[in-house]
Amino acid sequence: MPERLADHTTLRLGGPARTWVRATSETELVDAVRRADEVGENVLVLAGGSNLVVADEGFEGTVVEMATTGVSADHEGDDPTCGGVLVTVAAGESWDRFVAQAVERGWVGVEALSGIPGSVGATPIQNVGAYGQEITETLLSVEAYDRNLGRMVTFTPAECGLGYRMSVFKHVDRWVVLSVTLRLHRSDLSMPIRYAELARALGVAVGDRAPLADVRATVLKLRAGKGMVLDPNDPDTYSAGSFFTNPVIDAETFAGVRERAEVEVPSWPGEDGTVKVSAAWLIEHAGFTKGYSGDGVAISSKHTLALTNRGRGTTRALLDLAREIRDGVRERFGVELRPEPVLVNCEL
Ligand SMILES: Cc1cc2nc3c(=O)[nH]c(=O)nc-3n(C[C@H](O)[C@H](O)[C@H](O)COP(=O)(O)OP(=O)(O)OC[C@H]3O[C@@H](n4cnc5c(N)ncnc54)[C@H](O)[C@@H]3O)c2cc1C
Repeated sequence: MPERLADHTTLRLGGPARTWVRATSETELVDAVRRADEVGENVLVLAGGSNLVVADEGFEGTVVEMATTGVSADHEGDDPTCGGVLVTVAAGESWDRFVAQAVERGWVGVEALSGIPGSVGATPIQNVGAYGQEITETLLSVEAYDRNLGRMVTFTPAECGLGYRMSVFKHVDRWVVLSVTLRLHRSDLSMPIRYAELARALGVAVGDRAPLADVRATVLKLRAGKGMVLDPNDPDTYSAGSFFTNPVIDAETFAGVRERAEVEVPSWPGEDGTVKVSAAWLIEHAGFTKGYSGDGVAISSKHTLALTNRGRGTTRALLDLAREIRDGVRERFGVELRPEPVLVNCEL
């Protein structure tokens, strides 16, 4: 029986893969990708499957499952610039398990990223971020296998081109991330809290620090309340996280949105005159409320941005729902929503 992608994605959707290789070491990983490249076979690198929407028809090629492990902090204390620690983590490691370990050991800089599903190697792919923190703030380098050159390469943060849910790696199959090195501080206190909701929940002011373990616990609690921590018993978490990114639009388009909205629109000004607008707000005000459903799929009952599989959904139905929402927002506000997950063998 071919392996089904549905058994490896948090949406629990996706048809069969032609070939499946589970790579537990860098050698196995690179060999599998190299072998496929030599015969011109399509390759899908899959880790936690938490940012993937895969067609019901599946994937005509080789899925290489990242299962490499290892956390090394050999240079602990060697970084005089921050009195911290340089940690290199294998791409296949669970991101949240790593964050838990970091918090336990007093390594500061990733605590607000608690509860994000998936692997360490995927964190630079879309510059994961949450509750006022992004991986770009602690990323020191990325080791990758370059499929064009057939050899290992090292990326500096600048070379990673990290932006809002974006990097040089996203939607590009050229590089396989093998490991990630982070520069973390050492303290019992977190980085300054930047996110108002988190600060409120912690009972501190924005800009204050809080005990590291409290920040992790509070983030996990806030996330769970929004169905943003994986829970096999909660179909609101059968998602790919936020389905749409917050659109970044020019000032003129934003003026048009405000005119049509007739009320204040949640937004964040960018440095270059652009404005980032809340996708959740646009969706709700275009008439799509929490729980709005399609055929076996629905907007999460806890979070407007998460499109979920209610257990008997299909990728086709999920994309139909996504299209309906995208078109509704375009019609109401003149703004184009774009998907955050990577779509495999399907499109919006
Ligand atoms: C409930 C839930 C909550 C979420 N919350 C957040 C959040 O708060 N913030 C946020 O930013 N994201 C969030 N996400 C999205 C997702 O968890 C992240 O993007 C995560 O980093 C994806 O990791 P993964 O290992 O599951 O990647 P996968 O889904 O397996 O892969 C995603 C993409 O990255 C590629 N890829 C993965 N690993 C590698 C590698 N080693 N080398 C090259 N390419 C690779 C894949 O080919 C694919 O294109 C959430 C998702 C869910 C389901």
